[in-house]
Amino acid sequence: MANGVSSFWGPVTSTHEWCEPNYVYSSYVAEFFNTISNVPCIMLALIGLVNSLRQRFEKRFSVLHISNMILAIGSMLYHATLQRLCSKLAWLRLEYKDSLSLWPWQQQGDETPMVWEMLLYIYILYSPDWHYRSTMPTFLFLYGAVFAIAHSQLRFDIGFKVHYAVLCLLCIPRMYKYYIHTEDKLAKRLAKLYVATLLIGTLCWLVDRAFCKDISRWYFNPQGHALWHVSMGFNSYFANTFLMYCRARQREWDPKVKHFLGVLPYVKIQKPKAQ
Ligand SMILES: [Zn+2]
Repeated sequence: MANGVSSFWGPVTSTHEWCEPNYVYSSYVAEFFNTISNVPCIMLALIGLVNSLRQRFEKRFSVLHISNMILAIGSMLYHATLQRLCSKLAWLRLEYKDSLSLWPWQQQGDETPMVWEMLLYIYILYSPDWHYRSTMPTFLFLYGAVFAIAHSQLRFDIGFKVHYAVLCLLCIPRMYKYYIHTEDKLAKRLAKLYVATLLIGTLCWLVDRAFCKDISRWYFNPQGHALWHVSMGFNSYFANTFLMYCRARQREWDPKVKHFLGVLPYVKIQKPKAQ
């Protein structure tokens, strides 16, 4: 705790601590920059949601944008309190002193939604190739449910990270196939922006982790973790916009990439009269 500002949320219970000093600006916000840097992600997801609803894209895209918002809000709460999500409420309600007994609660806070979102990506990417319409969503739903239950009972740690990485890797080949079959230059640029923001974000995250000791001595902290949040907000937006473009082409909705206020790309479609 810096500058003697006291904390509203009690002692830090998170297992990770980031390079930003705690409680500098307010006793309600543990990490100021790491908290507000989630706002762009929420705004971008909101823009994506409005665009998807207004043009009546399939519901899967609304769910995707909403899940991005939920994850960003979860991240905000986490960085603001540095408590695993829900644990403050659980402390108040149950007065548990043993944080281990809160484990099932905490796990459902962020990691389970992350896996559910990844399953949704897999569905969006692969379902057009699937022969039997209902088998894939049923399988993915059961998979997500079994995961949530198992995750609430067992500690995964490294296992969770490996499992999540495998889910991410599963998306890459199909994403690449969409990319090479896309001719439109502006749509191709969405995919390139997706890769660029992923690389920039990862670099910021790594530098923040690896050089935290040095950075803490600098006069100015570049807030690598906050920059990672901003990059990932754009990253999800570009991924979702690219997928909306690809889906609209499959459905022959004549998609075009336009720019909101001259900068932010979005997909505009023209559905045939019969639909
Ligand atoms: Zn974070």
